[in-house]
Amino acid sequence: MTWHNWAGTASADPARRYWPRSAEEIADAIKDAASAGLTVRALGGGHSFTPAAATSGAALDLSGWTGIVAADLSSGLITARSGTTIRELNRALDSLGLAMQNLGDIDAQTISGAISTGTHGTGAALGGIATQVAALELVLADGSVVSCSAEQRPDLFNAARVSVGALGVISTVTLQCVPAFTLAAYEAPMHVDQVLARFDEFAADNDHFEFYWFPYGGNALLKQNNRTAVGAASAPGPMPGWRRFLEYEVMENAAFGALCRTGRAMPSLIKPLNRLASATLSTRRYSAPSHEVFVTPRRVRFVESEYAVPRESVQEVLTELRAGVPRLADPVMFPVEIRVAAADDVWLSTAYGRDSAYIAIHQYVGLPYQEYFRLFESIAIAVGGRPHWGKMHTRDAAYLATAYPRFDDFLRIRDETDPDRRFANPYLDQVFGP
Ligand SMILES: Cc1cc2nc3c(=O)[nH]c(=O)nc-3n(C[C@H](O)[C@H](O)[C@H](O)COP(=O)(O)OP(=O)(O)OC[C@H]3O[C@@H](n4cnc5c(N)ncnc54)[C@H](O)[C@@H]3O)c2cc1C
Repeated sequence: MTWHNWAGTASADPARRYWPRSAEEIADAIKDAASAGLTVRALGGGHSFTPAAATSGAALDLSGWTGIVAADLSSGLITARSGTTIRELNRALDSLGLAMQNLGDIDAQTISGAISTGTHGTGAALGGIATQVAALELVLADGSVVSCSAEQRPDLFNAARVSVGALGVISTVTLQCVPAFTLAAYEAPMHVDQVLARFDEFAADNDHFEFYWFPYGGNALLKQNNRTAVGAASAPGPMPGWRRFLEYEVMENAAFGALCRTGRAMPSLIKPLNRLASATLSTRRYSAPSHEVFVTPRRVRFVESEYAVPRESVQEVLTELRAGVPRLADPVMFPVEIRVAAADDVWLSTAYGRDSAYIAIHQYVGLPYQEYFRLFESIAIAVGGRPHWGKMHTRDAAYLATAYPRFDDFLRIRDETDPDRRFANPYLDQVFGP
């Protein structure tokens, strides 16, 4: 059965599939595949735009290896099986009175797929999901099951938290969670010039700040999400169910999807439709449990590239992108998304060692995107940008070695844990070398 990713940008025909339901069964699958001379990849939720999970060898489907195996309410440490989706995780944490400190904007990924590619949300003082990992259990190429954390095999831990599945198959993830919290969300349109002029202020003054900007429109949609005590008098009320449906399902998915389909059928309408979408952005103010604010439904399919750049370069990158987009032969239907993260210490995290801004560009599926993505990549790499491991880019190991100070250390751990390249695939050959 052919495997496809969510965006339809990668597909593969694995020679074998395994459905392991324990660390021992993961080890058995790896050994069985090795005896047949096959390479091995773990499948997550298929939400990477890059062919990170694609394999013509053995695919390990972890969709039956889910759920929380341990929870310590006093420390907030919980251990989840690697195939658990973030949606399942959020539900389970809710029932324990816990939450993830920061999340990306969907919940369909598995926890191990998300950390393996450096998935992140936004927050100038906060890191991506991999920074919330306290320990990992991995099954290595020789079938051994090992644990790592800051205290136990720290080099393996630093390498494995973001490792695109190159070091082994994660069997469990231990996460440092926080007490459940409420976010007060404030979303409002603002001219993009004004947002850029006040970028540092917005990043500093909000727990979670981001903005979307439609490339041909003047307005950006500014999102400022802040922690609030449950029941605080200053907090806005919850969004009624009907309004949530109208705003997120109808406006952001059904109506926006209709605009995209119209633009794809009649590309000459894309710029005016884009301006229309920009002009009709509305203000919303509500409170909800944190994960309900972080996560929104994404039903309109798109392709995406994203680079982390040094925070201080964000103005330069966006200025060049704004100048370049109107000159593209094919117009752009989707908005650009800008987020922030704090410097961290995970060797292959896109925010390793530097406060970062994330700039993500998108195009509606089926519309030409190559020239746009090439333009963006050339701008981002000029400031030392690091591509998201799960989003489209053309960087290779030679470039990435210059972008990551601990790249050689990562390759050393890869040589130690997987000398025969049991976990190789063409994408890993590109980004880490064969
Ligand atoms: C609509 C949409 C919204 C998105 N939003 C965000 C966002 O807000 N922020 C962000 O940073 N990214 C975002 N992404 C990207 C997405 O979070 C990442 O690509 C993530 O890796 C997808 O997780 P997955 O479970 O689908 O993993 P997959 O794409 O299936 O796999 C990713 C990698 O992880 C490896 N892997 C999976 N499981 C294991 C395991 N058990 N052990 C070892 N390796 C494993 C795979 O082999 C592969 O190399 C988005 C993507 C989409 C399609």
